[in-house]
Formats: sequence, C-alpha cells, structure tokens
Amino acid sequence: MNTGEQLCLACGLCCDGTLFDNVQLGPGDDAKKMKALGLPVTISRARTPVIFFRQPCTALCADRTCQVYADRPGQCRTFECGVFKDAQARRITFAAALRLVKQARRKADNIRRLLRQLGDTEEHRPLGDRFRRTQRRMESGAADAAAGATFAELGLAVHQLNLMAHEKFYTKAEAQ
Ligand code: SF4
Ligand code: SF4
Repeated sequence: MNTGEQLCLACGLCCDGTLFDNVQLGPGDDAKKMKALGLPVTISRARTPVIFFRQPCTALCADRTCQVYADRPGQCRTFECGVFKDAQARRITFAAALRLVKQARRKADNIRRLLRQLGDTEEHRPLGDRFRRTQRRMESGAADAAAGATFAELGLAVHQLNLMAHEKFYTKAEAQ
C-alpha cells in the first residue's frame, strides 16, 4: 500500500459527507451500474438536471475502504485533496499529512457531537446539510439558553472546519 492510500484509509473525509454533500456522475459514468451496485443514484429537479448520489456514501466501509472501488464514479477517481497532493509531491511529510486529516476528523466528529446534542441524529445526511437544517430550526424556534450556547459552539466549530477545509483540502475548482 502506498502512502497516498494509507492517508485516505485514515481519512475518508471526501466520502463521508464532511467535505462534500454529494457525488455527481458525469458522462463517463454508468448510472444504471452505480444503482445496481447499491448507490442511491438520483436526478436533481434543477433546470439542468444533475445525476448524483448523496453523501455520506453508502459504499464507504467502516475501515474507510470503498465497496465499489473498481467501479467508482469519475469524481471519486479524479479527486485528490490538497493534503493528498502535498504529501504525494513531498511538500509535506506523510506524518504531517496524517496529523492534518486527524485534526480535520476530530473537528468533524466534534460537529457531529454538537449536532446530536441539539437533537439532530440524522447521521445519513451530509454535515453541511445537517448544520443548515439545525440552523433553520434554531432560528425559527425558541431555543433555551443552554441550546443557544451549544448552537454558538456549533457555529464556531463549523466555521473552523470550513476554514481548514478551504485552506488545506479543497482546491479552487473543488470548493463548494
Ligand atoms: S480528503 Fe484527501 S486524504 Fe482524505 S480520503 Fe479524500 S483524497 Fe484522501
Ligand atoms: S463511491 Fe467510493 S470513492 Fe466514491 S464517495 Fe463512495 S466510498 Fe468514496
């Protein structure tokens, strides 16, 4: 196993709904085959429809391997985050890259903990979507002081993860 593979197996952030809300299929992808493989492929209702499936990806295993690796969509084949690229190009050491993914994972786990504390247990939804839903709920109802304080902590945690994601993980073309 090369160091890039080792890094991704320690990470999974581009598959588990942390960095992306969904995976879009392109012209080179066989949507029917993806569906047959169990991926919940669907078509958006936008004026220009997009074929996609939601993250967290159902093909992501507990050990962060991909169940459909040989048949994964083009977006998954081509995506390499900034940390991965920096490690591959030896601009940073493997140990430094590993520290960054562990740091980002801890931040995402903390956000999940705060979301659960605020009553959102929808682990099958992407993190950004869960935050937006919780934000709408908190802003539309009367939250008590304790929930308000937790929500403030959540907002800060999301902001810090977004900063890190944009600084270290997304490239310009990939940023959401
Ligand atoms: S976010 Fe980067 S390091 Fe993590 S799994 Fe994806 S490509 Fe690999
Ligand atoms: S198909 Fe595989 S590589 Fe693509 S998002 Fe799902 S688990 Fe990740």
